[in-house]
Amino acid sequence: MAQNIGLVWLKDDFRLKKNLALAHASKNHDHVVAFFLYKKRKFIDQEAQKWWVSKSLKEFKMKLNSYNINLEIIKTDSYKSFFENLFEKRNFCIYWNKTYEPKYLQFDKFLIKNLKNNRIKFNLFKGNILNEYEEIKKSDGTPFKVFTPFWRNAEKFYLEKIPAKEKKLSKCRKKISFFKKIISENEIQSEINWDKKFEKYWDPSEENANKELKSFIKDKIENYSEARNLPNISGTSKLSPFIKHGQIHVETIWEECIKIKKSSVGKFLAEIGWREFNHSLINYFPHMVKGNYSKKFDKFPWEKNSKYLNAWKKGLTGYPIVDAGMRELYASGWMHNRVRMIVGSFLVKHLLINWTEGESYFKNCLLDYNEANNISGWQWVAGSGADAAPYFRIFNPILQGEKFDKNGDYVKKWVPELKNVPKKFIHKPWELNDINILKIGSDYPEPIVIHEKARSKALNAFKSI
Ligand SMILES: Cc1cc2nc3c(=O)[nH]c(=O)nc-3n(C[C@H](O)[C@H](O)[C@H](O)COP(=O)(O)OP(=O)(O)OC[C@H]3O[C@@H](n4cnc5c(N)ncnc54)[C@H](O)[C@@H]3O)c2cc1C
Repeated sequence: MAQNIGLVWLKDDFRLKKNLALAHASKNHDHVVAFFLYKKRKFIDQEAQKWWVSKSLKEFKMKLNSYNINLEIIKTDSYKSFFENLFEKRNFCIYWNKTYEPKYLQFDKFLIKNLKNNRIKFNLFKGNILNEYEEIKKSDGTPFKVFTPFWRNAEKFYLEKIPAKEKKLSKCRKKISFFKKIISENEIQSEINWDKKFEKYWDPSEENANKELKSFIKDKIENYSEARNLPNISGTSKLSPFIKHGQIHVETIWEECIKIKKSSVGKFLAEIGWREFNHSLINYFPHMVKGNYSKKFDKFPWEKNSKYLNAWKKGLTGYPIVDAGMRELYASGWMHNRVRMIVGSFLVKHLLINWTEGESYFKNCLLDYNEANNISGWQWVAGSGADAAPYFRIFNPILQGEKFDKNGDYVKKWVPELKNVPKKFIHKPWELNDINILKIGSDYPEPIVIHEKARSKALNAFKSI
């Protein structure tokens, strides 16, 4: 066994199970130090995630302690300058798992080149994905642009791969320190500028991710196909923030799910498939990170309207299902998928506001913010993405509410000023006409746009491109 040091760069992989970088480093070295680079700029527009990351660092640090591995947090303005300083030291081998965002994969190339030039040993591993995105292509070698054939191929490819025997983390001989200027996770915590308490809703850790998966499989997966569309019940796994921060590997989810024979397992795994598809899209078509996948949308006549945008962000549009979703997001750092589609459609179609505005607000508020899923999700809603919902299909927020939140329980939970509104009016409270129950305009806003008018305006705007 080599005596030198194994350094493990942790990014979004706060787990012991299926963490190849950690497992290999602990096998190959007597001493292992894990490090996390806290780049303040990265979190400026990912405010909610700072909370999850600081919690995860604290929890994971303790866990690694019992393996004699130190987790050191280093504050830096630039990954590049951090590594350039590191190249000057020699007595280590570096390990990391891939993060499937174009900027990270690009950075890997820089790192590999410089590590080689400096004769520093390194090992790079598969990250939190089923297949490497380059592995799944059409027979002519081009990338898939449509989900169904993509997933058919990806699923088959994954099943045919010989399952690698899991390499487990080993206990290291002695805990050592490596970096000089380290900070504590409390310093990150002290910078959190979020007035709501996520603690009420979440407890980030690998154990909890596995617990959530088990209880989802035991109690919910059977009804997933129907229940996944109903925001008033807990019909989905709510694993997304755990997946995002790597507390659970998607391979683990896959392995646990295929053990059971229930018809809706396939539907659930297809959602993991959408995540794989989105990662493939943004890496094959990185232009979509900055703008429209479909260039024709570059000419779309978006409107700038800060009054509408603020009403949308605050959950004060006058459409109860939209407002409930936006308030759920702000309070809990998460929003139900059906409601993400409804609020997204409302922003880009009823308010004619560019999807990039919604994307960046979600980025700031979502605990599960993930570049591939958020960008693809927004472009799916806007109609500018690959295999997207056509722009002319415009969700009616009243009918969506009546269909997916029949009794209005979801609305009443997040918009308490509507709690006494009868079921018949819960998704159109302006028709109630009973000031003893609700004063529209003072207790709750009037709709900021009229659905029918907004719909035809949106269709005309679409015709113009
Ligand atoms: C406008 C918009 C923005 C979105 N932004 C994000 C984001 O930043 N991060 C994110 O993880 N998801 C995003 N999604 C996808 C989806 O809404 C969430 O993944 C899902 O709501 C998470 O809840 P869950 O874990 O209970 O999902 P479940 O239904 O239990 O699904 C299990 C897992 O499959 C994946 N998944 C589920 N639905 C989708 C989907 N439609 N697309 C891709 N992957 C999916 C997620 O990893 C999820 O955790 C977005 C969707 C839309 C419409």
